[in-house]
Amino acid sequence: MAERECDFAPLVFRLHGGAPQVVREVLLERGWDEYDEEEQEEGDWNLYWRSSGFRKSDYENILPWQRLNHHPKMSQITRKDCLARHMRRMKIAFGTGLYDFSPAAFILPNEYTKFLGVYTRNRMTDRGKSRYWICKPVDLSRGRGIFLFEDIKDLVYDSSAIVQRYISNPLLISGYKFDLRIYVCVKSFSPLVIYMHQEGLVRFATEKYTLASLDSLYSHLTNTSINKFGMCYAMDKERVGRGCKWTMSRFRSFLHKQDINELLLWHRISNIVTLTLLTAVPCIPSSPNCLELLGFDILIDASYKPWLLEVNHSPALTLDCPADVTVKKGLINDIIDLMNYRMVDSFRQKGYCRKRTGRRYLRPKISQGFLLPKILHAPPSGNKSWNQSVSGSSSSEDTRNNTGYATCPVHPNSKSIGHEKDPQKFEEINNELGSDDLKLTTLNSTRKLHRNAPSTVCKLPSLRLHKLKAPAVPWNRVTQDRGVPPCRVGDFILTFPFNQATWKACQDQADVKAIVNEVHKLTNRLVSSFNEKERTKMESSQSIGISDKFEPLLWGPKDPPLLSKCCSLNSEVK
Ligand code: ADP
Repeated sequence: MAERECDFAPLVFRLHGGAPQVVREVLLERGWDEYDEEEQEEGDWNLYWRSSGFRKSDYENILPWQRLNHHPKMSQITRKDCLARHMRRMKIAFGTGLYDFSPAAFILPNEYTKFLGVYTRNRMTDRGKSRYWICKPVDLSRGRGIFLFEDIKDLVYDSSAIVQRYISNPLLISGYKFDLRIYVCVKSFSPLVIYMHQEGLVRFATEKYTLASLDSLYSHLTNTSINKFGMCYAMDKERVGRGCKWTMSRFRSFLHKQDINELLLWHRISNIVTLTLLTAVPCIPSSPNCLELLGFDILIDASYKPWLLEVNHSPALTLDCPADVTVKKGLINDIIDLMNYRMVDSFRQKGYCRKRTGRRYLRPKISQGFLLPKILHAPPSGNKSWNQSVSGSSSSEDTRNNTGYATCPVHPNSKSIGHEKDPQKFEEINNELGSDDLKLTTLNSTRKLHRNAPSTVCKLPSLRLHKLKAPAVPWNRVTQDRGVPPCRVGDFILTFPFNQATWKACQDQADVKAIVNEVHKLTNRLVSSFNEKERTKMESSQSIGISDKFEPLLWGPKDPPLLSKCCSLNSEVK
């Protein structure tokens, strides 16, 4: 690094062994350099990408220009037993109606007796009707160690595992089971900022679904790691085609053709994502330089109800087939855009020049709000309100050009890892860095060149709630960022916060009750507006078939408990 010129420093990524090749490929295409530990100094990188988690010291020693691809303590939702525990807690707190998207689960060996009780009760009440269970080791992935059973005598395990109710009536395409891999990026936990990628994967089992044989992994499990070894993997399967994956666009165009309202289905999935991540909010320390890519596995049952199967830490990014290439390259490009780097990192460079010339090094005591490049905190035209930000970008192309004000806001009161708050230091560093740091070199041109085939059908609109008032908290450079995150970055759609009330409720200590209530209200509003439209459509077309398909898409209980009774809400959305 000592040879590097002071006025030019390309962005540098660092990959840990086992990190996906596609990340390297995309970053090199975008003009980044790869970190070389022989040649470069310890902190001379901008992004460190690991498949496994980071050590505590990695979070503690992070420098202002650096980002890590994991938040600490993510096992709170990515370990099957922890997720099961959180889901149960939320069901108790907010009612099984709201959290009914997660199949009942028991953690073994500790909850064996509890499971036995439920199993026995079911046997008595079911009167001969079969009920199936799936047993999964808590800390394994890719389908390893999983088996199904109907009779408890077949439950054999030698390590910690969960037993989960098996969703035995999955939606099938030409007899094949499938699940959805939804990519979710948590930009920040404090405040909670969630993006859902609208391109994802549909993963098929490669043998036709049958309950007659619970041993057939190729018919019951949808993991690619298993199905790519199936006899039928390469065969041209009816409707599904060869291999075992579709892009989400292809799936959605399939739903369109079936007259299924995929928008409402998508909304229900985004609720699952928000409600699941909310469970982890109190456990995850604020770490503004981190960002998390999660893989949500969602199964849709025959009545179009989506179920959460699990949340994957470091979802697989291997490129096994054309669908992978389309989806994953675009995804990584969009993640990098969400991080909102500039092409040239004079910030990092100056830190190092300073170090070389023996002057004070930049690391100590930097304001939390300054942990990301300054441009992230400054909306392009002064104060950016929720209203402007959310409604201001109507097309994907427009919003790509608007990503210059992506934010990773940090509240001064939030728990943090690393640096101290110090507005004076903030000013001092601003001055020292000079005006060139304020120039945003947009990545869009580079990105457009390298972006892989865009999804072809039905881009999902982001939730745009035009009638919201501007938030009362203006953006302020010194008192930390209060800007609303952009509603769209590439194919990432802002899922949370989705209105002013949720934006407010997730500041400081997240008000989980208020957020849950808003999710509830939004759902009810959407459901009733869809109902209304559907009724009109039915009356005009005198069609009965559509309603049969539509009705089960409605999310949540018909008559949900009124959470507004237990928490006071000042909602602007009517
Ligand atoms: P892993 O981390 O090993 O992939 P998952 O929980 O994702 O474990 O389960 C693997 C596969 O098993 C899923 O992709 C899905 O096809 C199937 N599966 C898991 N849980 C259920 C369930 N409760 N009901 C129906 N199918 C399930």
